[in-house]
Amino acid sequence: MRKLFTLLAASLLALSSTGHLMAQSPAPVTLVKAGRLLDPRTGNVLSPAAVLIENGRVKEVGAPAKIQVPAGAKIVDLGSAMLLPGLIDGHTHLLMDIVLPAEAERARRLNGGFVPAQLLAIVESPGKRVLLGVQMAREDLESGITTVRNLGHSGIDGDTELRDAINAGRVPGPRILASGRKLETHAETYVQNLNPALADAILQQEFLLFDGADSARQAVRQNVFHNVDVIKVTAEENLTVPELAAAIEEAHRNHLKVAVHAVDKTSIQTAIDAGADSIEHGNDITDEQLKQMRDKGMFFDFTPTSYGHFFAKVFEGTMAESLVLRAERLEADERNRQRFNDLAQQVLNSEFVDGFEVSDNQLYNSLVQRVLKSGVKFAAGTDMNWHYPGKTRGQTSVGRFPTLHEAGMPSLDVIRAITTNAAEMLGWQDKIGAIEPGKFADLVAVSGDPIADITELERVRFVMKGGQVVRNDFASH
Ligand SMILES: [Zn+2]
Repeated sequence: MRKLFTLLAASLLALSSTGHLMAQSPAPVTLVKAGRLLDPRTGNVLSPAAVLIENGRVKEVGAPAKIQVPAGAKIVDLGSAMLLPGLIDGHTHLLMDIVLPAEAERARRLNGGFVPAQLLAIVESPGKRVLLGVQMAREDLESGITTVRNLGHSGIDGDTELRDAINAGRVPGPRILASGRKLETHAETYVQNLNPALADAILQQEFLLFDGADSARQAVRQNVFHNVDVIKVTAEENLTVPELAAAIEEAHRNHLKVAVHAVDKTSIQTAIDAGADSIEHGNDITDEQLKQMRDKGMFFDFTPTSYGHFFAKVFEGTMAESLVLRAERLEADERNRQRFNDLAQQVLNSEFVDGFEVSDNQLYNSLVQRVLKSGVKFAAGTDMNWHYPGKTRGQTSVGRFPTLHEAGMPSLDVIRAITTNAAEMLGWQDKIGAIEPGKFADLVAVSGDPIADITELERVRFVMKGGQVVRNDFASH
């Protein structure tokens, strides 16, 4: 017996000498103390607050004086900071990072907005692509996003493999609900005019193309084989209710929810009639359709991606970046180099506002008002797949949430959309979305008050996932 114990101790010691393995196993008990804790469900603020964490899960939440802290517990004191549940991005694309502008290329090729970046992503090495996803995942987590629902554009199994690598502790990142490949009809593909001899082979790397109810069912089964967590279907005007209903029935039989991309009124109606679990984007939804969604208990998933001149800023940043790169190549030509650098500055200083985006914003304001008034369940995602010069993927993503407030959503509802509500949309309400006993200890903290200033969400200074501290800017050095 004694000998066995010694052996065990020796092997534990061996484990701890490989530092990264140790970092993965959470300290058994941790107490996180903070000046304030916001409960998004009720809007109540507990002050001061403490969260007792055991084996990666919340054990108790309350006033610090009322919590019995076991001896040897690790104490994390965040001073006057405010704790919130870890943020959930209900709609993202970690394995895509599109560089804009592609206008000139689009004008020549008569193709979709994703080309050529989408094509490059599909035909380049899947290994390279999944490593991009590793970076995006880490950056999301560092900005406070502790769970994402990744809805396509990941190759065949990039997102499920990334999810598994994160869960196994090989790379840092948020919890991922992975959709695998998006289901689409042949009529709706993001890339067209491909070489006919190669088209199907290329598209199959990214999409599960179906035609008819039986093939829709088959497509779902293929994703089930790849062990996905959710099914994503792109609905367009040609998709029929029986086709989508077959996919949904097959998904539900496998206990998977179905997120349906639908933007125009016809596609939205198809998604409603077929019984989707969530409608993604939904920009053109009518009040009557919102009523139907509410009656069926469907989720509306906001994606305010372009709101607030987002693409104008992306264009500016990318143009300036191109000019600076050009200047670097002119090292021997001081005068021209200076000209390109000056041009880059001018682009950055310009107030480039796109008229299209302004009218877009007004439509979005009314959408937010109508959804809130309808009483339909809602959550939010970033739909992020864009390269934003000078920002990490995480910084770009969390910058999208406050735009919902600009569009007229009360701060508390914005926070609900990416915590409690999102957890319910994902079907993970028993695991994440709130700081409550039994749930994963996924916490973030900010210095200020996000109810008074929702842009506090862009300045998350403490991140904990499953009881592990990912980031702590409050720690004294
Ligand atoms: Zn999307």
